[in-house]
Amino acid sequence: MTTAVCRLCGAELTETFVDLGMSPLCESYLPAERLDSAETFYPLHVRLCPSCLLVQLPAYVAGEDIFSDYAYFSSYSDSWVAHAGDYVESVVERFGLGRDSQVVELASNDGYLLQHVVERGIPALGVEPAANVAEVARERGIETVVEFFGRELASTLVARGRRADLLVANNVFAHVPDLNDFAAGMERILAPGGVVTIEFPHLARLIEENQFDTIYHEHFSYFSLLSARTVLRAHGLEVFDVEELSTHGGSLRVYAQRSEEAAHPVRTAVAELVDRERDLGLDRIEGYSGFAWRVAETKWRLLEFLISCRRDGRRVVGYGAPGKGNTLLNYCGIRTDLLEFTVDRNPYKQGQFLPGTRIPIHEPEQLERSQPDFVLILPWNLSDEIVAQLAHLRDQGVRFVVPIPEVRVL
Ligand SMILES: [Zn+2]
Repeated sequence: MTTAVCRLCGAELTETFVDLGMSPLCESYLPAERLDSAETFYPLHVRLCPSCLLVQLPAYVAGEDIFSDYAYFSSYSDSWVAHAGDYVESVVERFGLGRDSQVVELASNDGYLLQHVVERGIPALGVEPAANVAEVARERGIETVVEFFGRELASTLVARGRRADLLVANNVFAHVPDLNDFAAGMERILAPGGVVTIEFPHLARLIEENQFDTIYHEHFSYFSLLSARTVLRAHGLEVFDVEELSTHGGSLRVYAQRSEEAAHPVRTAVAELVDRERDLGLDRIEGYSGFAWRVAETKWRLLEFLISCRRDGRRVVGYGAPGKGNTLLNYCGIRTDLLEFTVDRNPYKQGQFLPGTRIPIHEPEQLERSQPDFVLILPWNLSDEIVAQLAHLRDQGVRFVVPIPEVRVL
């Protein structure tokens, strides 16, 4: 076997962060007619680079195979659309964006974010490699380029006069196989004085809260502020601010500018978070050990809960069919004997089956019809929103359960 190398610095990836075994691509939902066919499983073996400390999954699957026909439409989550609206309001004010500005978003999805920019009369351009998702954005009147982003596309856009006063790369940084090409492209497309913001799930929270289900094949890199700063610095960008967000179980929003420009003073939040990450041990290899055993413990507890429900004759069904649910269910080996079905608001997923575990996905109304004892909330990061939506079920005696950080009945 050849040893994989670090996508940032090229060092051999000799250290394991956690190995979740084999899993199919977490967004490759199965239609009924494919139930008699085989599925392809890939390793979910996450490594730690011993040299630059980037936590990463080798690109077992090419980005083109994953993102060209993607099932994830951001607008299906109310709270996610609201999060994007709040973000746009805050950056428009902070950086004084107006009709003469240009906002570019990388991985603009179905326009969930840029719609808020366009509403304000600010020119916006989306870059989205998944044609089916980009089409929805175009129908909303958002100009969208259907391509993968990197140095080449950045140069093409700059040549067409499209430089970004604000470059939004929220929730894409973690999904980029060629991190160096992507970061170099970001630096290239920035207008003079331009600002880039990136959001990504915070590795510190993943470790502290056992969020191992956020590991999946589409999620190539797991960043701390320290490692994100390393990537950006390697391409002439400097972090000048950071905010901690509650999204995706705890994310960072990092603001960066060209290192040589330094138009925005570096806020103290940056040094404070770097210090905290050092306290957590994220600046050395030993700081990452121990995580793998906590993951195994979480699996055993979830299985104990589901098996004891089964033995007591109580029925458990799922809510949601997110990518993270598929990592969790495949790693734990949960099938329909322990989780009868799940439901999802996304009509694209309804009537299909979860990859690997082949648990059927129904429409949410199936919950009322079937009256289970417990609903296991797979997108636990949205559990407040979901429990509020399903308050009528609670009145009927249904109880809600989250699997992460450990099994808990709400
Ligand atoms: Zn490295």
